[in-house]
Amino acid sequence: MKSDIEIAQEAKMKPITEIAASLGLADEDVIPYGRYKAKINHRLIHKASKQGKMVLVTAISPTPAGEGKTTTSVGLADAMNALGKKTMLCLREPSLGPVFGVKGGAAGGGYAQVVPMEDINLHFTGDLHAIGTANNLLAAMIDNSIQQGNPLNIDPRRITWKRCMDMNDRQLRFIVDGLGGKVNGTPREDGFDITVASEVMAIFCLATSISDLKERLSKIVCAYTYEGKPVTAGDIGAAGAMTALLKDALDPNLVQTLENNPAIIHGGPFANIAHGCNSVMATKLSLSLADYVITEAGFGADLGAEKFLDIKCRYAGIAPSACVLVATVRALKSHGGVAKADLNQPNLEAVKAGASNLVRHIDNLKNGFGLPVVVAINAFPADTPEEQAYVEQVCAEQGVPCVLSEVFAKGGEGGKALAEKVLEVMEDRPIQYVYPLEMPLKQKVEAIAKKIYRADGVNFSAAASKTLAELTELGYGNLPVCIAKTQYSFSDNAKLTGAPTGFTMEVREVRLAAGAGFVVVICGNIMTMPGLPKKPAAVNIDVDAEGKITGLF
Ligand code: ADP
Ligand code: MG
Repeated sequence: MKSDIEIAQEAKMKPITEIAASLGLADEDVIPYGRYKAKINHRLIHKASKQGKMVLVTAISPTPAGEGKTTTSVGLADAMNALGKKTMLCLREPSLGPVFGVKGGAAGGGYAQVVPMEDINLHFTGDLHAIGTANNLLAAMIDNSIQQGNPLNIDPRRITWKRCMDMNDRQLRFIVDGLGGKVNGTPREDGFDITVASEVMAIFCLATSISDLKERLSKIVCAYTYEGKPVTAGDIGAAGAMTALLKDALDPNLVQTLENNPAIIHGGPFANIAHGCNSVMATKLSLSLADYVITEAGFGADLGAEKFLDIKCRYAGIAPSACVLVATVRALKSHGGVAKADLNQPNLEAVKAGASNLVRHIDNLKNGFGLPVVVAINAFPADTPEEQAYVEQVCAEQGVPCVLSEVFAKGGEGGKALAEKVLEVMEDRPIQYVYPLEMPLKQKVEAIAKKIYRADGVNFSAAASKTLAELTELGYGNLPVCIAKTQYSFSDNAKLTGAPTGFTMEVREVRLAAGAGFVVVICGNIMTMPGLPKKPAAVNIDVDAEGKITGLF
C-alpha cells in the first residue's frame, strides 16, 4: 500500500474558493492563503442562524499500537457527505513537535486524510507562529518590567510564565537566563514549553470573539509579587498587543479532504495540560455552515472526551448528538498485555483480556455523560474475523452498536456503515457533566477520579493542597478542572492498562490557567516540553529538487 504522503500527493484538490462557495460563503468572508487554504471570517458565527448537529470522535485509552481517531473522523465526514448529508470536519492543527518526533503528522491516514497534508503539518497558515509570538511577547514584557525598576514588585522567583516554541527540545526545559550583568537582565531560572502546551493556545481555542480573547489574555496570571499577589498580563499591559498578534489567526482555516469535502482545522492545544480539542470558533463556525459536524478530542475518552464535555462544551453551550468511540483490535490486544512487536499475530485471548478498557469507556460515555455511543472498529489488515466478532459481541452486551470502519483502506466508501449507524443513534440530550462548577476544586477532582477513572480516591500532595486552597481564596474555586495525567491508563500509572481498579490518584501539583478559565491538576510527571526520540521522524523527511516533500507521514 502507498504511504500516507504518497496518497495525499495524488489528491485531486479543488481550488479552496470552490470549496468555500460550496458552503455558501460570500467572497468577502473568505481570505485565501494560496490556492488550497483559506481563512474564514470568524465574525460569521455571530450572524449564524442555523445550528448543525455535532458528532464527537473519541477513543479507548491510547496504546503504542495507534487508534486512528483523526483517520476515523476524516473518513466519517467523507462517508456522511457521500450519503448526501451536508457535513463538515473540524480538527486540531498539528504541532511540529509530534511531526518531527515519534508520532508523525496529524492529518489522518490512508484514504482518509485532509490536504494539502504537507502544509497542514508544517507551517499551515501561521497560527502556531502567532500563538508562540504572543506568548513570548508577554515573557519579554515581564522581564523588561523587572529590568525597568520593577514597578509591579514582581518576585523573579515566582514568574510562572514560560517562553515557548513549537518544537520538541528537551534542552530548553530548564534554563538560566538574564546572565551577563546589570544591562542584560535579571538572572533567573526559566524554561520553555512547547507552543501547543501554552495557555495562549488554550485561550485561543476557548475564545468566542476578539473581545473575549483580549479579556481572557488580560486575565492570565503570569507571576506573583513579593507579597504573593497575582500579576496578570493585563497588569503588564500586554493583552492588547497580544490580541493584535492573534487577530488574523483567530479566523478558522478551511481546507479539504481527499474527497473534496470541507474541513476546518483550527487551534491545537495539548490534551494533557490543556483541553485538547480544536477552537470553539471553528466548531461554532462549522455548526453554522453544515448540518453535521464531525470533531475529535485528543487521547482517550477519559481525558479528551471528559474535557471536551466538561470544559469546552460547557463554556461554548454546545453538546454532541452522538459519540464515536474508536477501538482497534491491535490496541485491545495491547491492553491485554501483548507487546508491540507481536500485535500482528492473532490472539483472541488478549483481545478478550483487553476489552475491559473498551467496556469502561462505553460505560462512561453512555451512562456517565448520558450520550448515544457507536463503537467504530478501525480495521487493520492483521485483524481476524473472530477477533472483530468478539468486539462486536462485547458492544452488544453493553447495548451499543459496533461497526467496522474501513476508511483507511477505502475512504468515505469504507465509512458508510458507520455513518448510517451514527445518523440512526443521534439524539439531542443534555450532557450529564461529571461535576457542577460550584463544587469545591478538590471535590471536582475526586468526582472525575471516582466516576471516570474508577479510582478509590485522590491523594493531594501538600503543595497541591496549598495551591488549591490559595486559588479558592483568590476566587478561582468555580473554575472547571483540567486533569493532566498519562493517556495510557485510566489511572495515573501508564503501566496499568485495561481497566485498573484499587488505585489512588496522586495529585502532585496544581497550576492556574485563569485566562483559559480552568485549573490544571497534575497527576504524575507531565511533559510540557517533549523531547525527540532516538530516531526522530525528522530523519526520514526530505525534499527533492522540485520541492516535493517525502517521508512526512
Ligand atoms: P489518532 O488521531 O487517534 O492519534 P490517527 O488517525 O492520527 O490517530 O492515526 C495514527 C496513525 O495510524 C496514522 O499514521 C495513521 O496513518 C495510522 N492508521 C490509522 N488507522 C489505520 C488503519 N486502519 N490501518 C493502518 N494504519 C492506520
Ligand atoms: Mg488525532
